[in-house]
Amino acid sequence: MTVSPDQVVYMDNNATTRVAPEVLDAMMPYLTELYGNPSSMHTFGGQVGQAVSQARQEVADLLGASPEEIVFTSCGTESDSTAILSAIQTYPEKNHVVTTRVEHPAVKNLCDNLEIFTGRKYHSTRLHVEADGTLDLQRFKDSLTDETAIVSVMWANNETGVIFPVEEMARITKERGILFHTDAVQAVGKIPINLKETAIDFLSLSGHKLHAPKGIGVLYVRKGTPFIPFLNGGHQERGRRGGTENVASIVGLGKACALAAAKMDEENTRVRALRDKLEKGLLTSIPKALLNGHPEQRLPNTANISFEYVEGEAILLHMNQHNICASSGSACTSGSLEPSHVLRAMGVPFTAAHGSIRFSLSIYNTEEEVDFVLEKMPAIIAKLRAMSPFWEENNK
Ligand SMILES: *Cc1c(COP(=O)(O)O)cnc(C)c1O
Repeated sequence: MTVSPDQVVYMDNNATTRVAPEVLDAMMPYLTELYGNPSSMHTFGGQVGQAVSQARQEVADLLGASPEEIVFTSCGTESDSTAILSAIQTYPEKNHVVTTRVEHPAVKNLCDNLEIFTGRKYHSTRLHVEADGTLDLQRFKDSLTDETAIVSVMWANNETGVIFPVEEMARITKERGILFHTDAVQAVGKIPINLKETAIDFLSLSGHKLHAPKGIGVLYVRKGTPFIPFLNGGHQERGRRGGTENVASIVGLGKACALAAAKMDEENTRVRALRDKLEKGLLTSIPKALLNGHPEQRLPNTANISFEYVEGEAILLHMNQHNICASSGSACTSGSLEPSHVLRAMGVPFTAAHGSIRFSLSIYNTEEEVDFVLEKMPAIIAKLRAMSPFWEENNK
């Protein structure tokens, strides 16, 4: 059975987004008649190369970067790996990285396994977060040592939407002669970014989180920052990433970046208002519902809410019966009973972390959809609590 997009209420945009119709239109010629190789000498290929150049400019414009600083990759994960492994190879004599306890698996699992890549003892500092998901800058400063090769801190958290002060952290890092990487996959397109005014060396983004297709990413590499490629091969991307360009997706990403720039205001007014209405509605209409993450220092589209004494996965199944799509912070399906590492790092109590739901909106959501979710959720939670022994025990 398939469910068509017009039947679903899609509030899982931090997992992936729909491809904008304008993006698909821009891509189509490069999947059909304009199939040349951008590296070819002939005019037929050359015009494809021009489309890639234009897309590079559009990405650079959204980031406040120069086109030469944009390297196209296959995804956010590749960008994260490339940046961190490049820094580690740049400073072979160093053996320390600094990151946080709440990074995406793309950074977390890489940092867990650095000994495999370096063949020697490597250690990482995982910065604690506060109960509201924010970072303590003093603790960060204290973590930097002469052995630190790179700091990797996400710009905004995918589960809670909490925003980290990466610009300030990059300045502090630079003073110590250490490289700074930020996984900005969730921030790009949602909040303004101007890399010219920062000391950030590397930034990762991913197309499918901002209405471009899956399987296209970017690594921003600041001019002058030492860089060692991850994929060695042809001279593509000025020798920084071998492999024939994913032209159609690159063109789509360029278009998506131009659209994101044009819709940034809408994201921060209309989408934010929808998110706030949803959040307030849920917190007031459902008892023992708690917001996870700092109330203000947060992306405009994300609301992570815990419904105490119920299972997130059970909530999702009931939401699914109404074709409402969201995510849960518990991970029973993945075989572990552990709640999300992000909520655990924040010290969210077990009974709340297990019942957490992440709602993530986009410009395609409507007020009617928010009203629909607000209408359905109280009954779903009440029904599950009626079956929950924990709820009964704790709320006699
Ligand atoms: C989705 C995501 C990634 C991974 O991006 P892919 O393109 O799916 O590899 C990395 N970091 C964050 C914060 C994400 O949300």
